[in-house]
Amino acid sequence: MIVELISVGTEILLGNIVNTNAAFLSEKCAALGLSVYYQVSVGDNPERLFNTIKTAYDRSDIVIMTGGLGPTNDDITKKVASEVMGRKLYLDENIKKDIIAYLEKGPYDFIPESNFSQAYVPEGGIVLKNSNGTAPGLIIEDENKAIIMLPGPPKELKLMYEEQVVPYLSKKTDCVISSKIVKLAGVGESQAAEIIKDMLDNQTNPTIAPYAKLAEVHLRITSKAHNEQQAYEMMEPIIAELNNRFGEKIFTMDENVSLEASVVDLLKQKNLTLTTVESCTGGKIAAKLVNVSGVSEVYEKGFITYSDRAKCDLVGVDMGVIEEYGVVSEETAREMAINGAKTAGTNAAISVTGVAGPDGGTDEVPVGTVFVGCYLDGETTVTEYHFSGNRENVRENAAKRALNILRLAILNK
Ligand code: ATP
Repeated sequence: MIVELISVGTEILLGNIVNTNAAFLSEKCAALGLSVYYQVSVGDNPERLFNTIKTAYDRSDIVIMTGGLGPTNDDITKKVASEVMGRKLYLDENIKKDIIAYLEKGPYDFIPESNFSQAYVPEGGIVLKNSNGTAPGLIIEDENKAIIMLPGPPKELKLMYEEQVVPYLSKKTDCVISSKIVKLAGVGESQAAEIIKDMLDNQTNPTIAPYAKLAEVHLRITSKAHNEQQAYEMMEPIIAELNNRFGEKIFTMDENVSLEASVVDLLKQKNLTLTTVESCTGGKIAAKLVNVSGVSEVYEKGFITYSDRAKCDLVGVDMGVIEEYGVVSEETAREMAINGAKTAGTNAAISVTGVAGPDGGTDEVPVGTVFVGCYLDGETTVTEYHFSGNRENVRENAAKRALNILRLAILNK
């Protein structure tokens, strides 16, 4: 079953919005065993839209369109798709009632007549209810083919897709594509690929795809089978082998778990409390930690100690150490971690001091040099890094490496 996605909207062509709908739909179609062969973006121009829909319909079985279902004059998707399919539009009184009911709940004192253009439906069309907005989705079928029209706003599209389009499409397909993720930290993409070179070279079904993320590598294992159960059984030996080869470099196999969430989980499991003492990351680690719901059980406070003075005043770093070894040094990072834990009264502390650039580097301590201190129950380690990239890259890398150092320290305790 070949699928083509058409994203309608001049905003996409101008680069004003990122086409996240296409990414969402492609991923979802793959999960249903549908092959997306083409993704097309087209502006709000009737002639070009007509030709785009016609081409897609001729070469694909299912055409999924997003956007251009709104009430304004430039929202032409439904009109043009109906023309391609030779269907007339008629006013559906039920949709009109739904639109009135939805808009009456809103803050406006009258409903513009243009809103009712959304109540027009192509002859023989299937209407998809929009629980998050006024534009209904539509399906026009013809023998074995179909055009599915979905609203542009992702919130409206996703709900409509999950609740109404998946059941429709599932009936049309007989295989399932499932995938699992294995997330690694503390290993580069090329290193990871080298470690599993034989597996990558010999893959057929399931497949393994490495994706490099900042300070992380994700491996996506995908299998195609007759049903979900069979797909997961096929992935099991691969996942066991990845476990074997990467061990504690794997921080999660859960799509929704971040590095910081896995660290918070470990802290909770081991009944540990944490503080952070941040210089060049300026609160980035703290911000990541507090993104995790329930973190307050293990994280009460952190320190942003940007200047030399702040390092001394807030956590009691010895100014003599800074003067002797430099503020970006192993010794200062060590003092920050040990004294941070003492000041906050925690079992663990991570500290970061570095030169994020673009200014401030010297021959001895060039831009990108970062020291990460990690204190855990009386033991302290300091790791030196030399990151490349811009200021944001250096700071983000430092924050993530610091979290991973703490994770490994806890695991190896
Ligand atoms: P509305 O009823 O809100 O007018 P619509 O179906 O006409 O919806 P558009 O007007 O094309 O949709 O887009 C509305 C908004 O939805 C855009 O401004 C954008 O924020 C978002 N959007 C549209 N298409 C996409 C896309 N392909 N990916 C991500 N977001 C999108």
